Amino acid sequence: MLEELKKEVYEANMLLPKYGLVTFTWGNVSGIDREKGLFVIKPSGVDYDKLTPDDMVVMDLEGNRVEGTLNPSSDTKTHLILYNRFPKIGGVVHTHSPWATSWAQAGRDIPCYGTTHADYIYGSVPCARNLNEEELKNYEWNTGVLIADLFEERKLDPMAVPCVLCKNHGPFTWGKDAHEAVHNAVVLEEVAKMAARCEMINPDVKEAPQCLQDKHYLRKHGPGAYYGQGNL
Ligand code: 13P
Repeated sequence: MLEELKKEVYEANMLLPKYGLVTFTWGNVSGIDREKGLFVIKPSGVDYDKLTPDDMVVMDLEGNRVEGTLNPSSDTKTHLILYNRFPKIGGVVHTHSPWATSWAQAGRDIPCYGTTHADYIYGSVPCARNLNEEELKNYEWNTGVLIADLFEERKLDPMAVPCVLCKNHGPFTWGKDAHEAVHNAVVLEEVAKMAARCEMINPDVKEAPQCLQDKHYLRKHGPGAYYGQGNL
């Protein structure tokens, strides 16, 4: 079942160690088949060098395991809520990549200090609050709800801001498919590193001018985009 998607999700998971985004088994990638209403996710706690495409677990959007012998990622319910609440996304990633996680642990949004950030993320990377003790009883589910509610409260488009930080935890990113979600996880880690260094070099640094942020985001995304070869 879903052999192509399993291969794609397996390959996307293997990009996490390749890009230095995971230590040990800290991280997970999933991808969804919207027509079938099923998503494929990494099994929980299996070493990346032992993973195979057949180890991937198929889940439905109610949280039932449809295929696979291993337990799905411990973060499966968060992925599920994000698929349910953000209908345009096709892939989700969670990592504990050190620079993004440092901002999450500090409980801060990442301001847009430059065009590397603005090319991919429109505005700050939001940091979601901690869950309270009651919410922690259904931790992974409520993490997803908290993220989706935060995007609603701040009127953020998840396709324009393809990432979030969870306070004292780490980042989640997403994209049109599993590979794009990994791409955005790599971008977020680089952006988080640059922003931290930027504040170290100049503690009074201000966000990049809004018109520059607009220019960079909009030349790559949206109806008038002209970056790359897509308009030929
Ligand atoms: P899993 O191996 O269960 O996906 O957990 C990885 C992780 O990073 C948990 O936050």
